[in-house]
Amino acid sequence: MQCPRCSGMMVYEQIFTSQGGLDISRCVHCGDVVDSVVISNREHPSYYIKKVFRGCNTIARISG
Ligand SMILES: [Zn+2]
Repeated sequence: MQCPRCSGMMVYEQIFTSQGGLDISRCVHCGDVVDSVVISNREHPSYYIKKVFRGCNTIARISG
């Protein structure tokens, strides 16, 4: 399967949330996530909120 955004390689993964396990496809190049997690994100955005929060912490450490 190819990434719809960058045509990179997609890998299948399973993530676990408070709602249970989700099967997703993730691009190894740009990190784009598609399939069930996108649908789930619209109903339960906690997974993406945590991911963005960690990203902000990383940026803060790099900048000093
Ligand atoms: Zn991609």
